[in-house]
Amino acid sequence: MRDPLVVAFTVDLEPDCPPYLRGFRGIEQGTPALLDLLAAENVPATFFTTGEVAARYPETVRRLIRDGHELACHGMTHRSFALLDPDTARSEIKESAAILRRFAPVTSFRAPYLQFPPAYVKVLEENAFTLDSSQARYKLAYYRDRTPSRITRVPASVTSSVLRLPRVVRTAYLSALSSPVVLFVHPWEFVDLRRERLRLDCRFKTGDIALRCVRDVLRSYARRGARFVRMDALCNHPTR
Ligand SMILES: [Zn+2]
Repeated sequence: MRDPLVVAFTVDLEPDCPPYLRGFRGIEQGTPALLDLLAAENVPATFFTTGEVAARYPETVRRLIRDGHELACHGMTHRSFALLDPDTARSEIKESAAILRRFAPVTSFRAPYLQFPPAYVKVLEENAFTLDSSQARYKLAYYRDRTPSRITRVPASVTSSVLRLPRVVRTAYLSALSSPVVLFVHPWEFVDLRRERLRLDCRFKTGDIALRCVRDVLRSYARRGARFVRMDALCNHPTR
């Protein structure tokens, strides 16, 4: 018998559509709606959270933990690690880990913009992370960077806007993905940003319609017999 399809639904809990917007409407309006949906669909998720968001919105962090989701790290200020000097990169990781670990154990990490120079993987090891999801199967860097590491590296499968594509296109994309499937969304996608001055792929079908797209995606995986897991369950899981 084939192993069941494994799906990790992940959320990058961050300010609104960085670097284009300012503010936290995604945390204030998008996240509660998403948490309600995940509870209704009985799907455990992983929330890669910036230290800044955790410091500003401790109640949101407490609720996601209470709901059974994994709290994970998305850096401190959502700057790209590709642009930081090594000392700043180190303190981004240290500082955010310290803030997040006041709420719960935190062992999974994802870099902002999925940009993480290989040299920093050892900084994750030094800071007791055991899983990194900063790579993406749809980015060239994933195929170039085969740095050996004690850390389990589990790449994202598709970019977030794919989930908002018309159903027929989306289904074609999603059914081609290999297990474990790692999906990700941002809370600001569940706020109506259609009139903002943003790239089309950031703003199209944002708001309630994005939430309905996510519900459809989760239900279609459930119909296929998929097992939903948190990222920490994929530690030491073979992905390559
Ligand atoms: Zn991000």
